[in-house]
Amino acid sequence: MKLICTFILFTAFSIQAHEAKKRAVIRDANFEAKIADVVLTDLISDESFEGKYFKIVDGKSNQAINFADSEDLQLKAATVYYHLTKARNFFVQKVKSSYVQEFAPITIRLNLTNVFNELGHFANDKLEPQYNNALSIPAGIGYEPRHIKPWGMEIWFRPSKEININDFKTGVEINGIKSALTPFRNQVHMTSLQNFLSLLIQSKTITSSVDPSSLIRMAGTSLLIEMIFQTSDFTADFFSRKIYKLDSAFVPEIIYHEFSHLALSNHLELTHSSPVNEGLADFFAGKIAQSKKLATNIKEYNLFDGKLVRKKQQYRLEFERGDFANADFVFGLLWNVGIKVGGEIENQFIYQMTQNLTTSSSIKDGLINSALKTCKTLCKNPSNDRLGLYKLFNSKNL
Ligand SMILES: [Zn+2]
Repeated sequence: MKLICTFILFTAFSIQAHEAKKRAVIRDANFEAKIADVVLTDLISDESFEGKYFKIVDGKSNQAINFADSEDLQLKAATVYYHLTKARNFFVQKVKSSYVQEFAPITIRLNLTNVFNELGHFANDKLEPQYNNALSIPAGIGYEPRHIKPWGMEIWFRPSKEININDFKTGVEINGIKSALTPFRNQVHMTSLQNFLSLLIQSKTITSSVDPSSLIRMAGTSLLIEMIFQTSDFTADFFSRKIYKLDSAFVPEIIYHEFSHLALSNHLELTHSSPVNEGLADFFAGKIAQSKKLATNIKEYNLFDGKLVRKKQQYRLEFERGDFANADFVFGLLWNVGIKVGGEIENQFIYQMTQNLTTSSSIKDGLINSALKTCKTLCKNPSNDRLGLYKLFNSKNL
């Protein structure tokens, strides 16, 4: 018995971490997407996208995508693997999250259209297939009578599907990109992108009385999506003149956003979407991206106090939930809190804030109180910095 144990121990330790050079979509210094060679680290296989921390699979399969699979599928798998590794490193190394450090390997599903089902893992194939978004899902205990095995936390990336802009319920005029974008901006800046897209997707695929927001958690707030659009690169051709489509597995910030949901899931449940948890996921997505161009754009365009935003927003109770839930406001607010407390501590500061939050935390009470509380312990000069935060919040009617 002892001998077998020693043998198993030895084999376990002899699993070598592999590296592989692959092509993936990355951002250049100008925040433009391009395909480049990257090195994937911490692989435990030398022939598939199976790593110590992530296993990338196609659809419902449990087999990692193979290095012999099609170039397209590999490009997607490598992109997701590469950026997830970056996101994990951020939370482990910069934020020093012990929660993330201890994650079991996470299965990442590409091209999956199924709705998530808390009991069955995947809903029936025919039930409202999903496109153009990404979703982080909680672990489940499985259901033995139906041979459904337990699963851990996962991230699902939906395939893209073209939707004609004419089908937008908001009635978009098509006189080129800008005019198509303006109503989009107006719409999403009043509501959250999730609600907007629920509407959009609802118009195409959801005919039953199912509440679409319970089916999708949209990747990224409108500000991030808009930045992606503004870079007008090939991942953003989802906003061509007439067609909306989004291949979320090719967008680094969406990958960071979804991983951030997992990283914050010890306090903010994955089954629930609110302005607070969406804004937080976007904050970290913005920080993980480590792009000067993106940071500048966020500073200029955020609705909270962006210099280039015509109508800056004061806090309103309606931002908390429902049709006017406003994750963009939260994103801008957090970005400004980060600036106030200082670049050296901002990532740990915002992460520490989440330790005081729950799934039902509001902006006005939960988020603001948590920022002031966190400042007591983390700020360089707590009394002075807290005053600065008070002023910031007061200026926005908070
Ligand atoms: Zn989200």
